[in-house]
Amino acid sequence: MRPLFLIGLMLCCAASSLAQAPPQRRFAAATAEEAKRWQAASRSVLLDLLKMKDQWDGRSNPATFLPFHERRIRTNLKEKYTIHEIEINSTVQRRLPIVLTIPNINAAQGKYPAVVCIHGHGGTRFSVYEPQGPYRAFAQTLAEKGFATISVDVGQHKVHEEGRTLMGERLWDLIRAYDYLARRADVDAERIGCAGLSLGGEMAMWLGAMEPGIGATVSSGFLTTVANMREGHCPCWDFPGLTEAFDFSDIYSLIAPRPLLCQIGKQERAPGGFPPEIAQAAMKGIDRAYGVLSAKGKAELEIHPEGHVFIVPTGVAFLEKHLKP
Ligand SMILES: [Zn+2]
Repeated sequence: MRPLFLIGLMLCCAASSLAQAPPQRRFAAATAEEAKRWQAASRSVLLDLLKMKDQWDGRSNPATFLPFHERRIRTNLKEKYTIHEIEINSTVQRRLPIVLTIPNINAAQGKYPAVVCIHGHGGTRFSVYEPQGPYRAFAQTLAEKGFATISVDVGQHKVHEEGRTLMGERLWDLIRAYDYLARRADVDAERIGCAGLSLGGEMAMWLGAMEPGIGATVSSGFLTTVANMREGHCPCWDFPGLTEAFDFSDIYSLIAPRPLLCQIGKQERAPGGFPPEIAQAAMKGIDRAYGVLSAKGKAELEIHPEGHVFIVPTGVAFLEKHLKP
């Protein structure tokens, strides 16, 4: 064999073993203390990878917390709730239009429970309130049942600011929506959850994982593995460093021990979909984290008979059970 060929072969082997190296930071804790340390360290790693650590740190200090500078656009009175279209600061450079709904009835204890409602590819902040389409107006149902709800336009495929990432900007907009809710006098900051479908289910995973103040998470039409997302899916889920460190069951494990419901349809198929068998395998990883944190059963996987849709009755019942007083 010629030396050049040998060197080429060695380089090739090194590259392929690198590509197939297992993720380095997967959940493997044996005790609750280890699990909590893993969660804190993983969040810190992810904030760096998402290029949003500076923004996150700025939240915790009143001196650096970015004011919302809220501007009302229009108000629309419905029978059971009022829709407020508002604009707030997302960053110093960027305004964020939001839809906020507040129930017309008085809250049981003066404050409403609330849900960040999240759409997916091709949607807008209004999609989750619309009965046509896969969201089946889950946000409207929540609004009618006495929740405050909030919805933003989830960034599609444009990074707005230099030095940021697409996923980081998406998550930051959702965090600003959460922070806005949590600071309203009429919202109970201890009872804020999140729910979404598809890319919205993925963002519900991220929001629940990174913000410990999220009290319950419904992630519909997403629970899967990195291997499945590499086949026939829009690649916008990925960012540098993610798959070297984690699979999705690890990100979901950051939600433990808080309540989590994942919904997956029996009619989902690979490639391009989110098949139940893959979700069930990923769920085993999540169950381990909930088990170690003494919260067995608080993470649920609902396999439903439909396809890539939000199942409203069970999704809403889950949020009522865990967020209402
Ligand atoms: Zn995409």
